[in-house]
Amino acid sequence: MTGKGLVARTPARIALVAHDGRKQALLTWVKEQQDLLSRHYLYGTGTTGTLITRETGLIVSCFKSGPLGGDQQIGAKIVDNEIDMLVFFWDPLNVAPHDADVKALLRIAVLCDIPTACNHATADFLAIGLRSASDAGLPSPLRRQNRDAADRALEVSP
Ligand code: PGA
Repeated sequence: MTGKGLVARTPARIALVAHDGRKQALLTWVKEQQDLLSRHYLYGTGTTGTLITRETGLIVSCFKSGPLGGDQQIGAKIVDNEIDMLVFFWDPLNVAPHDADVKALLRIAVLCDIPTACNHATADFLAIGLRSASDAGLPSPLRRQNRDAADRALEVSP
């Protein structure tokens, strides 16, 4: 494994995932970082992504719900170098029915050396790094057509 730095490219392609018991915590973080996140491409598992879009208006390209294979879809995109950062608020107090997929996603994120945050404090550090990249010249909030192009490139189902 070789280090790639904080993000492989900007705008970054950021995957957002939260288990049910941690969805509100992730939503709180997303709202705190909404302006920053609006300058990047966002992806998510089905329920998490839908919730974020509904509550913030941010456009999130959704994969399947986590228990239905969404974690595996995101893992595959990481392997293909199509996701640059993972914010994954997994629940430390409950075992998920798809625990094997959860472990696989975390393993792939480590193997592929992408920045990965599993709690608010670490996600804040990633946001600091992303913000410094933004200061270095990221675009203003991405336009819908750019996101559509990203979706087509990833062949993400709506
Ligand atoms: P969800 O999946 O966003 O569809 O709830 C998250 C997960 O359990 O991995």
